[in-house]
Order: sequence, then structure tokens, then C-alpha cells
Amino acid sequence: MPVQVQISLSPEAAADDKAIRRISGTLAKLHPSDISGIRVIKRSVDARQRTIRINLTVEVFSGKETVVPFINPFVSKDVSREKEVIIVGAGPAGLFAALRLIELGIRPVIVERGKDVSARKKDIARISRDHIVNPDSNYCFGEGGAGTYSDGKLYTRSKKRGDNSRVLELLCFHGASDNILYEAHPHLGTDKLPGIIKGIKNSIVEAGGLFLLEKRVTDILIEGNSIKGVIVSGNEKLFSSHVILATGHSARDIYDILRMHEVKVELKPFAMGIRVEHPQELIDTIQYHGNARGNYLPAASYNLVKQVDGRGVYSFCMCPGGFIVPSATSQEEVVVNGMSPSGRNSPFANSGIVVEIKMEDVMKYRNHGEFSGLEFQKEIEKDAWINGGKTQSAPAQRLTDFVAGKLSSSLPKVSYSPGTTSSPMHDWLPPSISRRLREGLKLFGSAMKGFLTDEAVVLGVESRTSSPIRVPRNEETLEHISISGLYPCGEGSGYSGGIVSSAVDGMRAAEAVARQLSS
Ligand SMILES: Cc1cc2nc3c(=O)[nH]c(=O)nc-3n(C[C@H](O)[C@H](O)[C@H](O)COP(=O)(O)OP(=O)(O)OC[C@H]3O[C@@H](n4cnc5c(N)ncnc54)[C@H](O)[C@@H]3O)c2cc1C
Repeated sequence: MPVQVQISLSPEAAADDKAIRRISGTLAKLHPSDISGIRVIKRSVDARQRTIRINLTVEVFSGKETVVPFINPFVSKDVSREKEVIIVGAGPAGLFAALRLIELGIRPVIVERGKDVSARKKDIARISRDHIVNPDSNYCFGEGGAGTYSDGKLYTRSKKRGDNSRVLELLCFHGASDNILYEAHPHLGTDKLPGIIKGIKNSIVEAGGLFLLEKRVTDILIEGNSIKGVIVSGNEKLFSSHVILATGHSARDIYDILRMHEVKVELKPFAMGIRVEHPQELIDTIQYHGNARGNYLPAASYNLVKQVDGRGVYSFCMCPGGFIVPSATSQEEVVVNGMSPSGRNSPFANSGIVVEIKMEDVMKYRNHGEFSGLEFQKEIEKDAWINGGKTQSAPAQRLTDFVAGKLSSSLPKVSYSPGTTSSPMHDWLPPSISRRLREGLKLFGSAMKGFLTDEAVVLGVESRTSSPIRVPRNEETLEHISISGLYPCGEGSGYSGGIVSSAVDGMRAAEAVARQLSS
């Protein structure tokens, strides 16, 4: 059995494997020649004090012991002749559902509206360059789903730790660095994600799964209260008595299809706001107590939460050393989000700052019933497009001007490549959002000295934090509450948020299908 030790090192020493081995061995009371190997199992940065430390939990192996591999591999099976299950959507939920189906001996048939990761890159470039949004291939749609061009943050508040670890293992098996298994705040980076997604697709195809790209599901086939399959591209029918619906929260046409078939959905609370961007150096200085980051510390991040008028105002999806990106899914809307490369080495730090949205905010749209949150979201995204100049340029304001309620006469350079247009966002955002954001930002400025600065810019709108709709399911079978064989899963179902929890949800849906097929 390895001996487990806790060590606390300077950032420089923590980057030195030999130093870690030596200090861990001493703490484990082992002579250097007796140590057969070491393995870091937890790593976190402790920046609470002026002297910054890296805390490590290390396993020290000795004698004939060998370091046990971290990763339980993906166990592939030939499923080419097995029972077929349709998965709509190749985001984390759909891809991990497919991997799990294969492990369980079932053939996944993935139907994805967007292009492969390489072709998708060109469409993404066109959004910034030509202000053209391809409704099937953009930051949200395409092979790999919404998280493909992202920071790839992998921490989740979900408590299902066992399943989370399996997602991380499968990511490592498909090319991610194994540091995601022990970092307190693991992330992948937008430069690494496409390769990992390609690896997952290869595993699915090599096992005999079917991967259909550039095929949009335009309808579902329902008979009585059972799903029978889907219609693709308007006329192609694909049949299966089991359909995993993993289309994410931006697939508004899928919600329209559900509405048309009177498939029950529910209104769900969500959050909206703006994205703020600071110079990364400033955030480093604040979080590292005036110390320079140097070569051994990561780009600093923050996590801020305050209550304003009975609602949470909080930072969301913070991207240190990252970029703000245009993540609209159709032409006449502006939506912002954030991504970072693995090195988190851009000179900017951005984060969503959002407010909880409740029923009272969407009353104006109540004639849309369960879809009123969605209509509210659409209108604000359209307002952002109009106020940004009817292009993908984002409406923007200096942070201090937004808080003070005045138009910015100039805007600093930002990472958002389609450009910015000075706009009084404090004025046209709904008052229930604008007022709380401004108050919340003031409180953030008191909690984190230096945060409230005219060097920072806010861009609108951060509107797709989570789904405004839930597609309700039976908690035991995971099928839709009234349509048997239909498995709503991932972020679009309203049961998960983020890469890891959506992937976990996909695996759970696959297991539910397998249980049903074997009963
Ligand atoms: C820019 C950006 C950065 C992000 N950063 C992070 C991060 O760092 N960490 C994190 O945890 N989360 C992040 N997220 C959120 C994360 O990407 C999502 O939570 C996650 O991808 C949801 O997974 P999903 O599989 O449920 O849905 P999605 O990833 O949205 O995938 C759904 C898939 O379904 C496809 N689809 C939709 N409609 C149809 C149809 N009609 N027919 C066929 N296919 C269809 C879409 O093309 C898409 O590929 C980010 C999102 C964005 C946009």
C-alpha cells in the first residue's frame, strides 16, 4: 500500500518533480533508494495569504510496489450488429451516452446537425470576420457540442463524484492530460478540446457506432405515447424505439418540435447578465496580493457571489487568460461567452456576471406559458444585436460607467474579435437585471479591491448560462414523463449544466436505456 502524505510547497518547488519526490519520501520516512514511484493525487493553489503555497497530496510507493495507473480504459466492443439507439446531438451528453452504450453492448447512432471540429472552425472564424452566423455550425452547434471551443473547465458542483471521475478518466483515455484527475480546478483549453473530441469520435466509429454529421433532426416520430424515431433534414426517417435527446439548451427548434407534438415541458429558473473583462495582470495582482504571477503560478481567477434584493448575483464560467467569444446560434442575436487556451495565456480575464431570473421577470411573456423564459431570453439577445449595431459587434460599456449609469465615451481594447459598440446597457437591459447587476458589481468591488475599475469592460449579453426549460422525465427510468422511449438528457433537458455534469447525464441515460432493453 502506498503511503499518503500532504505537502505544501512554494510554486517553484511544486513545479519540480524531483523536489516533490524527495520531500514526499522524507515525510513517508522512506530512504530515496526504497522509493519505487510517486503519484500526485490532489493539487491546489492556496492564495489566501501573501505567501502563496501549492498544496499537494502525494502517494509514495516503495519496494516492489508499482504506481497503479490512474485511468480505467474505455472498454470497446464490436456493436456494429447490435440493437440501435438514436442519440440526437454530439455534445458531451451525446458523446458520453454513446461511449457508455458501446460499453454496454448497444450500437449508438449519433445524429448531429453541425460539422466536424475542423470544418466548424472555419464557420466560427466567419462569425468574427464577416458577422455571419451559420445556424448549424457555430460556437454551440457541431461535433463536440457547445464546450468544444471553450475553457473546458471540468469542475462541477454536482455531488455524483464517482461518475464525474469516470468522465475525467474517459477524457484522459482520449488524449487529455492526466493532471485533470488531481487538479482542484481542472480545465482542458480550447486548443486541446478538438483533438479529444476527434479521439472520442474514433472510439465510437471503430466500435461500429454510426456518426452522422450535418444532419439536423427536423421532427420526431411519435405513435401514441411512444417514440418511434426521428426525421432528419426534412424527409429522411431513422427508426428506433429509444431516442436520447441531447441537443443542448440552444436548440430552440427542438423545443418548437416538442411544442408542436404537445410533449410536456416546464418553465425553469435560469440566469442572465453580462460578461466582464479585466486585464489578466490586474486580476493576478489582486488575487496574488500584489505579487507578480511569475512563471509558476496559473493565471488567477475569482468566484464572486452576492445577494441583491433577494436574488443571487454571481460570477459564472470565469476564463482566466481567455477570450470573449460570439456564441449566437442565429443571425439576429448577440450572445457572449468565454473560452481559454490550455495555457490561459491571453492578457485578458473574463467572466459572466449573472442574475437569477424568476417567474416575475418573464410575466410579459406569460401567454407563451412554459416557453415564456425562452421568449424573454430571445428578446434580450435581439436587443443586444440591435444595440450592438445589427452585427455580431457586442454592446459594451466600461464597468464603472455601467455601474454609474452612463454611456462610455470610449472603450478599451477587448479580446472579443467581432468588435464592440458603446451602448447604455444599464438603460436597455430589463431593470430587474440591470439594477441588481449594478448593485452586485459594487459589492464585488468592495469584496475584491481593484475589481471595480474603468480598465474593465462589460459586454452583452450573457444569456445562455442554463436552459430556461426543463423536459421532465421519470427519475427512475429517465424517460420523458409521458413519452416512452424518449430520454431527454444533458443541458437541454434542464437536468445538467456544464461539460462534466452533462457527460454524466449522458452516461446515466445510456444506462437507463440498457436497463430498459434488458428487462
Ligand atoms: C463558449 C462556451 C464556453 C463554455 N465553457 C464551458 C466550460 O469551460 N466548462 C463547462 O463545464 N461548460 C462550458 N460551457 C457550457 C458547456 O459547453 C455545456 O454545458 C455543455 O456542452 C452541454 O452539453 P450537452 O451535450 O448537453 O449540449 P451541447 O454541448 O449544447 O450539445 C448539443 C449538440 O446537439 C446538437 N443539436 C442541436 N439541435 C440539433 C438537431 N435538431 N439535430 C441534430 N443535432 C442537434 C448541437 O449541434 C450540439 O452539438 C461553455 C459553453 C460555451 C458556448
